[in-house]
Amino acid sequence: MGIAPAADWEHDLASVLLTEEQIQARVAEMAAELADEYRDKHPLLIGVLKGSIVFLSDLMRRLCFPLEIDLVCCSSYGHSSESSGEVRLRLDLSKELAGRHVLLVEDIVDTGLTLSRLCDLLRERQPASLKVCCLLSKPSRREVDMQPDYVGFEIPDEFVVGYGLDYAERYRWLPHVAVVKPEAYR
Ligand code: 5GP
Repeated sequence: MGIAPAADWEHDLASVLLTEEQIQARVAEMAAELADEYRDKHPLLIGVLKGSIVFLSDLMRRLCFPLEIDLVCCSSYGHSSESSGEVRLRLDLSKELAGRHVLLVEDIVDTGLTLSRLCDLLRERQPASLKVCCLLSKPSRREVDMQPDYVGFEIPDEFVVGYGLDYAERYRWLPHVAVVKPEAYR
């Protein structure tokens, strides 16, 4: 019996950055922090499609108090690994924000351009409060002053996939976060 050969897709991945256990433990900690702030506020959690769906669904199942969810979709990187800096709403919210306590749930903050622009757009709708919760942050890549209020993990400047994050729509299903080999996307 030899070692099973790596599947084709595995050749694109360099290493596991965060294991499923690390992610689940941190999500539980973040949920506890969020409960302190939002338990009595009936918050509206807004997931940014598509990357945040796994994080949002794990997070909200650990928040054992009344809340609502909604989803927005911004223009994405498409098949590139670089941000265009241009942010367009491709799917708008179905709920009114005025007077609501809003928590924006994002997979990763890189340059900060997407969230900074999205927060500007949402603030115009006059929520009672607007905060940002992200699973991953790459502080060394920031191009605008965007400091998320809740951060799961600060990570180095590497392109990652898994736990909802994709590269050209692949790898979202991985239960962990992995680093993509640069030669796979260059
Ligand atoms: P920003 O506008 O902060 O530069 O980019 C935010 C968006 O870029 C994220 O929502 C995500 O879609 C994408 N992004 C940034 N870094 C990564 C990464 O390392 N991996 C993946 N899959 N997407 C990323």
